[in-house]
Parts: sequence; structure tokens; C-alpha cells
Amino acid sequence: MPAIAEVLSTNASRPAPRGSDLPTCPVCADSMVAAEASAFVKESIVSYLWTCDTCGYGFVTKHSLKRFACN
Ligand SMILES: [Zn+2]
Repeated sequence: MPAIAEVLSTNASRPAPRGSDLPTCPVCADSMVAAEASAFVKESIVSYLWTCDTCGYGFVTKHSLKRFACN
């Protein structure tokens, strides 16, 4: 699935400016390792689909793609 590889390479080459942006499962509090899929909502907003490996719970997060690194 091309979307998964795209997310993984993005995370590896451009770490989140605030440190860890990885969410935790709201059901069992397990840490999410990698998003199942990603989709652009707007020009600067991307949403990620997460599925918990432990309990199977799925949810979506949204992130803004601002360029903090250029400052
Ligand atoms: Zn879970």
C-alpha cells in the first residue's frame, strides 16, 4: 500500500517540531507507531488514520503542515 510507505518516509526525514506527535490509543493507551494511511484535508492540513495493534480501535488525527524549521 503506497500510502503507508509515504507516511513512514515522511516521519523519518522530517521529525515533528514539537518532539513526539504520535498519539496514544484512547481505549488502551498503547502508543501508535505508524499511521495506517494519510489524506490531505486542505492545503496545509493532513489527516492520519491510526489503528491500534493492541485493541483494534481506529481513529483519525489532523495535523497542520507549518514550516517551523525554516525559522
Ligand atoms: Zn488500543
